[in-house]
Amino acid sequence: MSRTVIHGGLVVTASDEIHADVLIEGGRIAALAAHGTDAATSWSADRRIDATGMYVLPGGVDAHTHMEMPFGGTYAADTFETGTRAAAWGGTTTIVDFAIQTMGRSLREGLDTWHAKADGRCAVDYGFHMILSDVNESSLKEMDRLVAEGVTSFKLFMAYPGVFYSDDGRILRAMQRASGNGGLVMMHAENGIAIDVLVEQALAEGRTDPRYHGDVRKVALEAEATHRAVQLARVAGAPLYVVHVSADEAVDEIAAARHKGLPVFGETCPQYLFLSTDNLAEPGFEGAKYVCSTPLRPREHQEVLWRGLRNNELQVVSTDHCPFCFSGQKEMGRGDFSKIPNGMPGVEHRMDLLHQAVVDGHLSRRRWVEIACASPARMFGLYPKKGTIAPGADADVVIYDPGAEQTISAETHHMAVDYSAYEGRRVTGQVRTVLSRGVPVIEDRAYVGHAGHGTYLPRGTCQYL
Ligand SMILES: [Zn+2]
Repeated sequence: MSRTVIHGGLVVTASDEIHADVLIEGGRIAALAAHGTDAATSWSADRRIDATGMYVLPGGVDAHTHMEMPFGGTYAADTFETGTRAAAWGGTTTIVDFAIQTMGRSLREGLDTWHAKADGRCAVDYGFHMILSDVNESSLKEMDRLVAEGVTSFKLFMAYPGVFYSDDGRILRAMQRASGNGGLVMMHAENGIAIDVLVEQALAEGRTDPRYHGDVRKVALEAEATHRAVQLARVAGAPLYVVHVSADEAVDEIAAARHKGLPVFGETCPQYLFLSTDNLAEPGFEGAKYVCSTPLRPREHQEVLWRGLRNNELQVVSTDHCPFCFSGQKEMGRGDFSKIPNGMPGVEHRMDLLHQAVVDGHLSRRRWVEIACASPARMFGLYPKKGTIAPGADADVVIYDPGAEQTISAETHHMAVDYSAYEGRRVTGQVRTVLSRGVPVIEDRAYVGHAGHGTYLPRGTCQYL
């Protein structure tokens, strides 16, 4: 069995920061021992990695990606191959992507389609959530079978009427089912019926630029939907995970629910923490690069999101990675913001941007690891296999250089998309080496992984946070 020792680094997990050497055996963490002790120096190894001056982190878990997702007649630009490679470059060693049920078809058919897209192509490990587009007797029954086989979370939409939208009755039924089978309902909480009215009115009045995408998707309509989702989950006796929370008032709804002791959880994304409606208003058609839903909000919302992350009102930062090229894809919405494919690239820079938040004083190092690695792993039934460095865990390990300076740019990123939402942004900290189950994927800033190393992860049920 091949043995690797990582020595001299600062091991940072959600609970501890210790100067420890790490022994990896057969793809798993075998032991930790204080650096310099007899125990650590006596380990024999096939490979030794010097992590002096580095952080040794559990691999990132990005619980919200959309590789090659169909949207508005086109597909997200990253395939499972390019997207998981980019994830690895950024220190993310697990993604949970969304398989989609096509209206009128079974969950099984959707899941099979996504397995076929990902199988043999991923650089790092992956699991699936299931998007429920069509809640009916047979898809409800199928939920039980999916939970039993490791697809334990189901996304529903209060937005996108005519596409993914479910009305309150369907949502309630799905939540009732989840409360019985251990599944977790993930909610896109925006009042899509009202938003569509505002979209129609804006377009009729000639307000067609990207900035109006942010305008019509009102804070109140995110907060209202979040409130409604909480109440429906409460009635159903089900836990609820609200995806991509962007508005301060939506954070307040989640905080109020948690204050009542309800099992309600919130996720936000780097774009809401670092970008704002100023970006949507960039001149020309540049704002299209930042069109995603929920939308970017005015700057003032950022402080509430940071506070929410610190206070555990929000538990997870995922990317909602759903990249569309500016050229040829985002451009489909010139003259009509409602035709701009919704989504942004981000899977590569989540760990770095959140490290910058540590540097800036928004988060502690342990909270950084918690919201990016441990909590998403717990939330989606992957802990402690993923999300920590402890004996028995998969040896998904990132050697992170906290002092390295880098400039984020489309020129140097590895995502298959022609722009960066963070073009020119300087950040402190960079991934040096990444192991996935003990196997190097990135080694001293060189990609040494391969498509097909990543394996499918059946997941357990949600561990409440
Ligand atoms: Zn999404």
